Amino acid sequence: MKTSIATVSISGNLREKLDAIAKVGFDGIEIFEQDFIADTGTPREIGDMIRDHGLEITLFQPFRDFEGLTGDARTRAFDRAKFKFDTMVELGTDLILVCSSVHPDALGGIDRAADDFRELGQLAAERNLRVGYEALAWGRHVNDHRDAWEIVRRADHPNIGLILDSFHTLARKVDPNTTRRIPSDKIFFVQLADAPLIDMDLLYWSRHFRNMPGEGDLAVTDFMRAVAATGYDGPISLEIFNDQFRGGRPEGLARDGYRSLVALMDDVRQSEPGIKIKVPEIPDRIRVDGVEFIEFATRGEDAAALSKLLRTMGFAHVGNHISKKVALWQQGDIRIILNQETTGFAHSAYITHGTAICDVGLKVENAAATSARAAALGAVSFDQEVGPGELEIPAIRSVGGSVMHFVDDESGLSDVWSVEFTRADSEPVVGAGLRMVDHVAETMNYDEMLSWSLFYTSIFDMHRTPVVDVIDPDGLVRSQAIKAGEGAVRITLNGAETHRTLAGSFLADSFGGAVQHVAFATDDIFATARQMMEGGFEPLPMTGNYYTDLQARYGLDAARVEKMKALSILYDEDADGAFYQFYSKPFAGGLFFEIVQRIKNYDGYGAPNAPFRIAAQKRLMRPKGMPRL
Ligand code: MG
Ligand code: MG
Repeated sequence: MKTSIATVSISGNLREKLDAIAKVGFDGIEIFEQDFIADTGTPREIGDMIRDHGLEITLFQPFRDFEGLTGDARTRAFDRAKFKFDTMVELGTDLILVCSSVHPDALGGIDRAADDFRELGQLAAERNLRVGYEALAWGRHVNDHRDAWEIVRRADHPNIGLILDSFHTLARKVDPNTTRRIPSDKIFFVQLADAPLIDMDLLYWSRHFRNMPGEGDLAVTDFMRAVAATGYDGPISLEIFNDQFRGGRPEGLARDGYRSLVALMDDVRQSEPGIKIKVPEIPDRIRVDGVEFIEFATRGEDAAALSKLLRTMGFAHVGNHISKKVALWQQGDIRIILNQETTGFAHSAYITHGTAICDVGLKVENAAATSARAAALGAVSFDQEVGPGELEIPAIRSVGGSVMHFVDDESGLSDVWSVEFTRADSEPVVGAGLRMVDHVAETMNYDEMLSWSLFYTSIFDMHRTPVVDVIDPDGLVRSQAIKAGEGAVRITLNGAETHRTLAGSFLADSFGGAVQHVAFATDDIFATARQMMEGGFEPLPMTGNYYTDLQARYGLDAARVEKMKALSILYDEDADGAFYQFYSKPFAGGLFFEIVQRIKNYDGYGAPNAPFRIAAQKRLMRPKGMPRL
């Protein structure tokens, strides 16, 4: 498999782009004309520089408005082509992309275009070059790859072929399976891009909203399956125009791009047998069975306060680490670790962020397969010295530099609790009915959301649900839920664009993305809330107005609403079911816990309640503009 990426997909100057692209493992680049025109090197020097990075120039692009012209305009189009061909020879690439014309004077006619390409093929052949023709979704006469293919077929020249681009085909809702009938030797190049489904002008959509395969809503896998089924085994190249990416970090973008291609081709390999492209075998997407643990890096007064809070919530301090200052708290299937070590990762996390969730453990089917798949997808592995008597549990880096561990039954890693922990002497605790982690909510910059959603959905058997707007009184936060199975693991990614939102100020204070809240599930939220409050738990107080409105909005029974009000329980419902939730007060710089009960098939997170929850939290946090002491 030969992987490639268009230089336009990555931010930075050409040299920064090349460094990032080469580092993450791509084989080649499509060079965009603007990128080399802006560079100070001659075409030959630039070509050498690219090859010095270990990269091949898979394509030179774009060459616009070529076909369908007459008279002087036609002559000039051929002169321009000759000039570009000379540049290609200097750069050291043999393939150019000609996109279908948008020229106002271009005449239609399949045969006229075919004649133009036959003549161009002759010029290209003299220099040992090849020309690929791509149908732009907004081309004047040709906007469908089936028409572009007919032109290439009639041009009937060995140096003229077709370039397929998933965006142009899928944006026009052309059936991708129509490429199955194109001979593979006439497909010169394949470009891939995904995009969110937005109803807008095709050109604008393409130039600003493309994203990596798997980050959007287009059927890119079906498209690539059809291409691979033809026997095509040339480069597979990303061509992504995206406003956010233009301002992103070059290496992060390149890594995401590489990850998206590997995951996509793995899907293609598994669903389209007998293809010619050699795709490395990697473990299947990993089934996740639950959240195994949540680990806080904490210290001193924060640790004492957190322990007290956990006790009021019905958690029992069940264990202490055999050699480290690490306490294990448990209730139902929920395990919370308080790590007060003064060396190692939790220590450095504490120094950087203060009390924070530094590690999340996932229960997986097979931990070794998980790290193998993650590594193949370019995840950064995490290693820390293993002490005597400790298990070697595989881990990778996750959001905001935090760590994610993988525990399984198969290799005995789930015995860690009996192997590494001794029973703590704790007074008997009456639980509050908290059963499992319902969701883990990660806060991040809006710009990072696509990247982390790709992280979860490419490594794990997890699926995205549509982005929901969360209204903070000081700005918008976008929330995307990623879910495994029937909800064994739910992770919400909350993207903040301004520091004035609650999520944004948490981001600023915690120096980067992190878990901001963890929600626990109960089967009887009223009993749970009562039990916790008897234990001294103080819920986040909601306003009287909230309950008056709630009763009016849903026509709820007055006595029930009174009960909710007394316990500060919030409510939402939709066609699938209903949802109860209440919150802790914020602690340690903006972290909080949430308790939820899902009724029937309610699959959301109570987004309609967010403005009221956030307003209540903000009342308890420091006033706006006050620095953190
Ligand atoms: Mg293209
Ligand atoms: Mg929540």
